[in-house]
Amino acid sequence: MKKVGILGGGQLGCMLAEALFKWGAQVSFYDPNPTSPARLRTPHFMCGAWDDEILLTRFFQDNDVVTYEFENVSTTLLSTLVQKTEVPLYPSQEVLYLTQNRLREKTFLKTNGLPVCDFESCLSYGEWIEKSQVWSYPYILKTTEGGYDGKGQWLIADAAAVQRFSHEVQGKPFVPLIREEIVSIVKEASVIVARSKWGEAVCFPAFENVHSHHILDTTVVPAQIPMSVQEELKRLALEAAALLNVVGLLTVEFFIAQTQQGEPRIFVNEFAPRPHNSGHITRACCVQSQFDALARILLDLPLLEPTLEPGAFCMGNLLGDVWKSGSSTLNLSLLSQFPNVVDVVLYGKDKPQNKRKMGHFIIRAETTEHALQNAQQFRSALRESQ
Ligand code: ADP
Ligand code: MG
Repeated sequence: MKKVGILGGGQLGCMLAEALFKWGAQVSFYDPNPTSPARLRTPHFMCGAWDDEILLTRFFQDNDVVTYEFENVSTTLLSTLVQKTEVPLYPSQEVLYLTQNRLREKTFLKTNGLPVCDFESCLSYGEWIEKSQVWSYPYILKTTEGGYDGKGQWLIADAAAVQRFSHEVQGKPFVPLIREEIVSIVKEASVIVARSKWGEAVCFPAFENVHSHHILDTTVVPAQIPMSVQEELKRLALEAAALLNVVGLLTVEFFIAQTQQGEPRIFVNEFAPRPHNSGHITRACCVQSQFDALARILLDLPLLEPTLEPGAFCMGNLLGDVWKSGSSTLNLSLLSQFPNVVDVVLYGKDKPQNKRKMGHFIIRAETTEHALQNAQQFRSALRESQ
């Protein structure tokens, strides 16, 4: 059976490994963190830095195909490794190169006529000083690379915020930025496409996402978004995956705003060429999960249409703030009071920190409203029982 290497030993990698094991695949991980969830669960783990070419070469040579759950690896190095070892990386280093950088990503969207918010680059301190005098606020500044869960973002709402930001970056090496207009978001959604090396693609249903402090809080399915809009989101996601020639998963995050006439207006926000936090809901709401879909692609198996299961579903994230005591176990005896909890995954991270994703759960109910309501109740009960 095939040997699959996963760059990154976090929760996404662990759940992908579960899906791969079902088919008898061998899985090994590469991660610099000796206490990453995968390290504590499997001996097939190589601990090394992201720029250790010798170790990474060995890792590639030990596998038939390599994928990643962590996106901040040098694509120059990855290209060298793919060329040297002839072991494919899925999705390719070209896809990763584009999605690693917000400017490249948004320029790609614009060039291909996909809907994107107004944006502009700001690559040096001099440029910042110049442009900040003409840009009308409010707007959002984001680092072009490396941001996640709202990190590396600044809301520039007024002249004082411009001053504060200038002060913050003055005299330091300037990190390239992108300015984005603020979209009056009515809803946020994501769509995951699974695409094989033969160019076949299937698309998961649209998920509706709610963020709290820029971090995903809940995901619901079926999304409370008009069917025609959901179909358009899926069409756009499939088009993007085909344009990028993705082999693997492509998650597309969307903002849905409103025109002055009250019509929905769609924007693509960003891509993730990997399983996505919102996609954890597929573990219960679809006949196959996002991880199953990726496993099939990595193992050259036929794709399966990810049809919806009956009912409504809500996935809730469990962040570190759920734990008061510092231990990351949960009082799961509560489950007897919540018989509609159909999935709980604790990621096995060592330290519960406030905004750190420690686990998730999924509720199944008759309606989306009930699923959401039950999710809030279950999370509150967990928090109070700690
Ligand atoms: P991250 O990589 O941290 O997920 P995102 O660009 O997705 O970065 O931003 C995180 C969240 O911040 C979004 O899901 C959305 O709620 C909010 N946000 C980001 N960009 C904008 C924008 N241009 N207008 C309005 N809200 C935004
Ligand atoms: Mg995002």
